[in-house]
Amino acid sequence: MRFKGFRKEITKGRYLNPFKNFEEKEILIEVRHDEITGVATRILPYRVRSAHKPDISAYLEKSPESLCPFCSPLFEKITPKFTPNIIPEGKFHRGDAWLFPNAFPYDANNTVAILSSRHFISLDELTPQTMKPAFDVCRDYFHRLAEMNFGYKYCSINWNYMPPAGGGLIHPHLQTIAGHKPTNFMQQIIFSAQNYAAAENGENLWRDLIALEKDAGERFIAHTGALSWLTSFAPKGMAGEIDFYFHEKTSFFDLTEANFEELLSGLARVFGYLYANNFISFNMSLFAPMISNRYLWVQGKITPRFEINPIGTSDLNYFEKLHNEIICPVVPEDLCRELQLYFKG
Ligand SMILES: [Zn+2]
Repeated sequence: MRFKGFRKEITKGRYLNPFKNFEEKEILIEVRHDEITGVATRILPYRVRSAHKPDISAYLEKSPESLCPFCSPLFEKITPKFTPNIIPEGKFHRGDAWLFPNAFPYDANNTVAILSSRHFISLDELTPQTMKPAFDVCRDYFHRLAEMNFGYKYCSINWNYMPPAGGGLIHPHLQTIAGHKPTNFMQQIIFSAQNYAAAENGENLWRDLIALEKDAGERFIAHTGALSWLTSFAPKGMAGEIDFYFHEKTSFFDLTEANFEELLSGLARVFGYLYANNFISFNMSLFAPMISNRYLWVQGKITPRFEINPIGTSDLNYFEKLHNEIICPVVPEDLCRELQLYFKG
């Protein structure tokens, strides 16, 4: 059996259109439900594109290097250190990247990893080489946690890039979380994979989902080796969602150096697409078990983020915050076709 958990419903509405002499206009609203993620998204029948790249100078003015806790000399003075049992030097270090505890943590184990000493790195400069030390330092940290036998089962590497995505500082940085319990969303997808296995004679949801999406050819961007890249059927963001799945990788510690190079190469392609399409901001999360779990293949999601002109309106509203439904003017199948061009060659 194959996964059948994507549902679509189309409803129609009417109004008298002031831009066409108040003629009657029919509108179509497509509501999509994804049983794996529990996400409901309304794909709207029109497409909004940002015609201009937002001006980032205001962010740079409000958040200068001189006030930045991740730039020298404040970095050495006011960033937290680990207790010596974790690492005697206080911080994890690779190349120009550093990992240290978050001073304002969301979790008992919430760290920050700065990409480098560079205060601002533009989306088109997020190359695999630029990102590698920060991902390496996250790996070093997770390996150290495993070595200490805390028994942590779940981890994630997360990114709020720039203020529209919730980035509190423009200095580029990742955040990691590790612990005994999955986050709410990770729990949801684990439950989905468990339920699928129970209903389908032990079949693996992730294997079947990727095969189904590849066959359908509507949202399957590319297979790059160990990874498959897709656009989400029901995106978690107003500008769509890009997903990646590591095949058969059931633990963070299954990932090899080559796997990370492949991941960073793919991320750079996605960021190149975003840059070319006038985005300046995104959220990314990579979800992984720290103790092998066949119900959670290592996987991740990227959602582009933006402010809506002319007054900097948020891309979140009551629908997403209070009704748990996403308004998305980007058609996932169109987004897929556009991204495929960036994965060629
Ligand atoms: Zn800085």
